[in-house]
Amino acid sequence: MAEYLASIFGTEKDKVNCSFYFKIGACRHGDRCSRIHNKPTFSQTVLLQNLYHNPQNSAQSADGSHCKFLTNLTEEEVQEHFDNFFEDVFVELEDKYGEIEEMNVCDNLGDHLVGNVYVKFRKEEDAEKAVEDLNKRWFAGRPIYAELSPVTDFREACCRQYEMGECTRSGFCNFMHLRPISRELRRELYGRHRRRKSRSKSRSRSRERKRSRSRERRPRRSRSREREKGGDRDRRDREGRF
Ligand SMILES: [Zn+2]
Ligand SMILES: [Zn+2]
Repeated sequence: MAEYLASIFGTEKDKVNCSFYFKIGACRHGDRCSRIHNKPTFSQTVLLQNLYHNPQNSAQSADGSHCKFLTNLTEEEVQEHFDNFFEDVFVELEDKYGEIEEMNVCDNLGDHLVGNVYVKFRKEEDAEKAVEDLNKRWFAGRPIYAELSPVTDFREACCRQYEMGECTRSGFCNFMHLRPISRELRRELYGRHRRRKSRSKSRSRSRERKRSRSRERRPRRSRSREREKGGDRDRRDREGRF
């Protein structure tokens, strides 16, 4: 029996534990869900609820003309806005709390998923530190809501139909629709651990990532050197954007 219960834990057959909370870290019923949301006490992943505000969405939900200028944003401008947000958050969190394995932002429109940012740290203790500290902080004029999330496997949390361009529920799907960052930014953020050491251009991403993990100590120093030069970002920090 115990084995059976373990095998169905967090799946749709599980009548006790909520499969949506377990897989996606958020469920549309929230606290009123009839199934249990088992909040983890340890996890590598931190959920920052509703942190990203897509300027396109504010335009859609606004009825007045005061938001009109937002609808004029081109796709490139929206992508740039998103890339800037992503980079700010990623760099800040990694510098403050520790190495990030991956970060994902939901493009869904439902209240429980809209703008959710999932940050998977390499170490659980870094995630714990981040949650504790971030809940005392503000971002873009709003308080941050951070919690440890049960999500560690984003493949399981993502909507497969969406990835094939076939999701019929569009923004209101209950599985993650992740917004992609530009290829250049991806290379910069996920490739920077080894940038100074290795100039060779490897095409294999998995090999790159493994290598970057094994070199964890060195890049930390080189990164702080990079930061000294990056006056722009430091200035934004001082202005308290985050
Ligand atoms: Zn639920
Ligand atoms: Zn979907």
